[in-house]
Amino acid sequence: MLSQLIIQDQDACLSCGACCAYFRVSFYWAEGEALPENYVEPLTPVYSCMKGTNQNNPRCIALEGDVGKQVSCSVYAERSSTCKEVQVGDEQCMKARKAHHLIPLIEIPLPDSGSSNDDDYDQVS
Ligand code: SF4
Ligand code: SF4
Repeated sequence: MLSQLIIQDQDACLSCGACCAYFRVSFYWAEGEALPENYVEPLTPVYSCMKGTNQNNPRCIALEGDVGKQVSCSVYAERSSTCKEVQVGDEQCMKARKAHHLIPLIEIPLPDSGSSNDDDYDQVS
């Protein structure tokens, strides 16, 4: 039975988005200065969060598309350090994917593009 999907890079996020619709995404208020004003809401005098994530059934206002199918972040270049902390296959990723009934991911390194399988062999003619 397929219990894990093996992925090679961050492309997995483009068909997921679970962590953007599971956690409260909070950060030091100054990070919000780079984001559209209406995408951020204050939490405390020093912390803000992405709108839509401080509620039951969170979903970040910047998340576009359908979770588990095809998604994108409309503020990807300006996203907070909190967003960047979640890595494919880490504990938070697994937790969010499980909550959205998505199969776990494991990350495998890309093969070294500088070498090939036949480096140590001569051609037989
Ligand atoms: S839960 Fe994991 S795979 Fe899904 S978007 Fe977040 S980091 Fe990417
Ligand atoms: S800002 Fe982008 S990366 Fe961060 S939670 Fe929202 S949709 Fe996800």
